[in-house]
Amino acid sequence: MSNYPDVKLFIDGEWKDAKDGKTIDVVDPATGEVIGQVAHASRPDLDDALASVAKGFDIWKQVSPFERSKIMRRAADLLRERKDKIAAVMTAEQGKPLEQSTMETVGAADTIDWFAEEARRTYGQIIPARTSGVTQLAYKVPVGPVAAFTPWNFPINQVVRKLSAALATGCSIIVKAPEETPASPAELIRCFIDAGVPAGVINLVYGIPAEISEYLIPHPVIRKISFTGSTPVGKQLAALAGLHMKRATMELGGHAPVMIFDDADVDSALKIMAGSKFRNAGQVCVSPTRFLVQEGIADRFVDGFVEAAKAIKVGPGTEEGIGMGPLANERRIPALETLINDAVSNGGELKTGGRRIGNKGNFFEPTVLANVPTKARIMNEEPFGPVAIINRFKSLDEAVTEANRLPFGLASYAFTKSTTTAQTLSARVEAGMLTINHNGLALPEVPFGGIKDSGYGTEGGSEATEAYLETRFVTQMS
Ligand code: NAD
Repeated sequence: MSNYPDVKLFIDGEWKDAKDGKTIDVVDPATGEVIGQVAHASRPDLDDALASVAKGFDIWKQVSPFERSKIMRRAADLLRERKDKIAAVMTAEQGKPLEQSTMETVGAADTIDWFAEEARRTYGQIIPARTSGVTQLAYKVPVGPVAAFTPWNFPINQVVRKLSAALATGCSIIVKAPEETPASPAELIRCFIDAGVPAGVINLVYGIPAEISEYLIPHPVIRKISFTGSTPVGKQLAALAGLHMKRATMELGGHAPVMIFDDADVDSALKIMAGSKFRNAGQVCVSPTRFLVQEGIADRFVDGFVEAAKAIKVGPGTEEGIGMGPLANERRIPALETLINDAVSNGGELKTGGRRIGNKGNFFEPTVLANVPTKARIMNEEPFGPVAIINRFKSLDEAVTEANRLPFGLASYAFTKSTTTAQTLSARVEAGMLTINHNGLALPEVPFGGIKDSGYGTEGGSEATEAYLETRFVTQMS
């Protein structure tokens, strides 16, 4: 992209270079070429961001929920107006097909609108007193300045959930956005600024993730953390947050099981799941990964999935008709190759794919493995790439045991025409989310989050705003 914007820090209402002038390269994953620079914050920049976010909180918490909501809705409209320009920037830095970048941008506008409405409904309670003349009130108040850490797979969507929930509830925020994909989140934030969010309320930094999180999380100004990323990093950050008594939301890795029963509509399952598996080149925390297919339909499902994988056109996300772009990071190529080779050496069958495509850009073949033993690494570690594993089961019990075997518990999927099976799965599958016979995850109005090692808290639904509020109790005798 010839007009990719260089990206600056945004602190106290101004776009700024880092104080020491340091920048990091931004690379187009479809070409491997450097397309721009992003400013790289160090301690003095973070100190400015902390002073700014503290000031921003004092201002924003006094803006009425009604007014906050109006400003947020304006930001959503600006995002819709600018969607084409922003989607082009996202595809240049992240690689996903333009259509998916546009969907992500438009979807983010819906998320802002939804939280803008929730902003107006942060109700407290009046609690009946035991003694006459006593009034007991429970208020909801914003928790305070937030530090949010977001990854590169959905450069806008990962920011917008945290940012909208924070702004809706009256919190200010420092976003540490992804260095790999910095420009599209910066454009999202520009929409909020142009919509009238006051200086200091939103701050944006990039740099070395570990250095920034180690400095911001313990800092007394910061009252809440929200992180999306891998489970090992999430555990470190949650431990640090706990040590300093900071509220935390953790949206971490998954290894989603997909249980497909003999009585399912196999064609529908194939269509929905192949689309879902290879969307964003599988770099999705809720990506369907362990397909568990009942014996009676297993061969048909494997053949159908292989056919669907082979039909996907892989190429630069800017080109017409592309179904899957490159991986966002070159480091994921050796990581995937290692997992696939390990699966095969443990007795798994490579049905299609398994290799890098060409030697320019991070393109990888849509891959299907079958009959992979549970001892293989890929059955235990999140592949975070375009790889489906299809194994078989005999009974419902066997499927549920395998679904629950891993420490992860984020998304899960099932296909069955039996209401009894669906109800059993609802009760027994250990996952924050279960979607049956369709893919209904990740709308702003429904809960989005994991259990077990996939983290805690939800980034959708009414609970998402709760995470940014605290309850204060006041009792008064007249
Ligand atoms: P990684 O663990 O190095 O980084 C994942 C994300 O966490 C990145 O955005 C990174 O900037 C951030 N990060 C890393 N260390 C940090 C720290 N100490 N403080 C604050 N932020 C930190 O892995 P990666 O190679 O970038 O991605 C691969 C793995 O990350 C995947 O296997 C997947 O599990 C996970 N991931 C998950 C999501 C998600 O949506 N849940 C998104 C991206 C990556």
